[in-house]
Amino acid sequence: MPYDDSNIFARILRGEIPCNKIAEDDHALAFHDIAPQAPVHALVIPKGAYTDFDDFSANAPDAELAGFWRMVGQVGRMLGVAQSQSGGGYRLISNAGADAHQEVPHFHVHLVGGHPVGRMLPGAG
Ligand code: 5GP
Repeated sequence: MPYDDSNIFARILRGEIPCNKIAEDDHALAFHDIAPQAPVHALVIPKGAYTDFDDFSANAPDAELAGFWRMVGQVGRMLGVAQSQSGGGYRLISNAGADAHQEVPHFHVHLVGGHPVGRMLPGAG
């Protein structure tokens, strides 16, 4: 699927619409989800144009891959949910494609926590 640069996260990266920013560097931007599903619900996105994790993992330069994942960990610590910050931990989620119900076609990772977030999938034992 070609990248659609009219998606909402591309517009946030271009500064066309605001976000509640947590962190930003050369490779990535982190901000709070507009409809949080847990007390902590952050989104981390790369600055490059990638539709989903499949695209990002196959095509991003090593520096962007590393910078992105470094920021994901940094956000967990900044928001106090990392166990190294005496938090309770967190879950990372990345929806890729229709079967995963991906809504915004710019690769992103959700970081959710701040309370127990349940088992991994609905109906899982
Ligand atoms: P997906 O289903 O694509 O993995 O998740 C997209 C996420 O983006 C959803 O959790 C949704 O609440 C969030 N979202 C959609 N539009 C906006 C927006 O304009 N601002 C922010 N901060 N989050 C958004």
